[in-house]
Amino acid sequence: MSTMTTSRRSFLRALVAVAGSAAVAYRPSALASLVGGKGSMDTTDADYVFVVDIDRCIGCGKCVQACSVENHVPAGHFRTWVERYVRTAEGTWIDSPDGAINSFPPLAEDVTAAAKETTFVPKLCNQCDNAPCVQVCPVGATFKAPGGFVLIDPEHCMGCSYCIQACPFGVRFLNPATHMADKCDWCYHRVSNGLQPACATVCPTGARAFGDRNKPEGTVAEALEEDRWRILKPGMHAHNRVLYRRLPREVI
Ligand code: SF4
Ligand code: SF4
Repeated sequence: MSTMTTSRRSFLRALVAVAGSAAVAYRPSALASLVGGKGSMDTTDADYVFVVDIDRCIGCGKCVQACSVENHVPAGHFRTWVERYVRTAEGTWIDSPDGAINSFPPLAEDVTAAAKETTFVPKLCNQCDNAPCVQVCPVGATFKAPGGFVLIDPEHCMGCSYCIQACPFGVRFLNPATHMADKCDWCYHRVSNGLQPACATVCPTGARAFGDRNKPEGTVAEALEEDRWRILKPGMHAHNRVLYRRLPREVI
C-alpha cells in the first residue's frame, strides 16, 4: 500500500514521462564494463530467449545456489528463485523458503494429504522488451542491450529504487553492498564470453534452457516449434523473453 502524497506522485509521473522518452539508447562503455574477460561472443545480432520447462523442475535449488555464487548475490537476496505451488481442493499453497536455495522442506501433513498437484516454478528477470524498469530510470542506468538483455550500468545507477518499484515481476532488489539496483541479467558476463547462464549450466534436469531464437537448439527449439509456451503476467504487455512450458494457470 502506497503512502505517497499527490504532489510526489505527480513529480514521479513527470519524471517517468521524461525518463521514458530518454531511456532508449545504451552506452557502449557500459557494455564493456559489464562483459568481463575478453567478450569473445558478439551478441549484437542474437535474439536470446530463456525457456523454463515446468515439467522438468524438481525444486532442487541448484540453480539458485549457482546464481548466488556466480553473481556474488548478497545473503537474503536472490537474482533467481524457485516457488512451490501445491494445488488442493480448497486453493493453492505457495512457498519459496530462502528462494529455495536449500530446496524445499517437506510439506505439513495436512497439506500433503490435501495436495492434488505440486509444481515448481523458477523465476528470474524476463529481460522485457517493453520494460517498465527501463522506462522509469531517471538517468538511463537501466537499459536494453543488443541480444535482448536488460542491464544496469554501475557507473550511473544512483540507487533511487524507482526500477525496483516499477518491475511487475518483483525481480529487482537494492544491493546492500553496492547500494545499486541488482537483478538477473542472464549472466551477461558469461554469455558475452560464449558461455551459458550459470543456472542453466547446473540444472540437473534441463528445466532451464537459454538460446538464440535465430539459431534455436534443444529445449529452446522444441519450445519455439511447439508454440505452447506462456509468459508471466501477459496483461502487463512487457514483452517478456522468459518463456514457460506447461505453466499452470494459477502461477502469478
Ligand atoms: S522482469 Fe522486471 S527487471 Fe526484468 S526487464 Fe522486466 S521489468 Fe525489468
Ligand atoms: S536446478 Fe533445475 S530442477 Fe533444480 S530447482 Fe533449478 S530449475 Fe528446478
